[in-house]
Amino acid sequence: MQIAVSACLLGEPIRYDKSGQRDKFITDKLSKYMTFIPFCPENLAFGTPRQTIRILLEEGHKRVYTVFSHEDVTQKINNAMEEELSKIIRHEICGIILKSKSPSCGLGSTKYYTKEMGEGKKDGLFASTCKAYFKDFPIEEEARLIDPWLRENFVMQLFAYYDTMQLEKNITKVSELIAFHTSYKFLLQSKHEKNYRLLGNIVANHAQLAFTDVIHDYLALFRKTIAIKSKISKTVNVLEHMAGFLKHELSSIEKIELHTHIKAFQEETIPLIAVMNTIEFLAKEHHIHYLFEQKFLNPYPKSLALRSSIQEGK
Ligand code: SF4
Repeated sequence: MQIAVSACLLGEPIRYDKSGQRDKFITDKLSKYMTFIPFCPENLAFGTPRQTIRILLEEGHKRVYTVFSHEDVTQKINNAMEEELSKIIRHEICGIILKSKSPSCGLGSTKYYTKEMGEGKKDGLFASTCKAYFKDFPIEEEARLIDPWLRENFVMQLFAYYDTMQLEKNITKVSELIAFHTSYKFLLQSKHEKNYRLLGNIVANHAQLAFTDVIHDYLALFRKTIAIKSKISKTVNVLEHMAGFLKHELSSIEKIELHTHIKAFQEETIPLIAVMNTIEFLAKEHHIHYLFEQKFLNPYPKSLALRSSIQEGK
């Protein structure tokens, strides 16, 4: 599994002042499950160390200037971005992590200017290039990944996106699409109930489309759906729905215990992992494969421990 990452976040000393900005979550945790394709359009355009740059809006057009010598370097940085984009698309990446606040890499956190004043924060130059090229793709900046809820959603999206890439490459028959859709049922419902149903309709293929069209339509809507951030209320609905599958197997005390767990998660007094573990344990004990094989219970390796924070639900 490969993702593209702003090289400074990997600790490479290529920021304007020759420093790096290693992000431990990426280098120490994600690195166990994925390899990184580093990029740095500014290093490619100007080398390191270099003058800082600033984006000026001139009659609605973005122009890029060096801050001290006020040289127009728009063309140079545009060329470097094109090169970096073609480098990362040569790899089968399933996500991008960008460095916040940088003129190139910030995602909604880059300062823009007009001649007179600041113009607010938007996407950096390379961030907007990536967003234009990759649709419904996992893209985040490292600063937002400090938030446990955004981090959980992003990593879930990364792994689900990777699964879609594998499916797209290897699928040969409809039964594999059905199995895929079934395993993602609760995760999709936690994102967008209506889209989950629409995806079911695509799989059912009442219009009798060609298999390749079905796959294409399914993957497009699936990727759009997993890009939606879940909410604590939707997660609670899904947990209750899962508990419903256990109602004939559990004793009354077990049922009360499970609902108390779900309520405690809803009230943010216990983390999601506690409820998930209970449901997974009960599903295994009662041999309900349909439940414990759900991606919703294990959307990424458990050791990432992203559901252990109480603030992870919103
Ligand atoms: S933020 Fe982007 S452009 Fe700046 S040093 Fe990091 S990778 Fe390079």
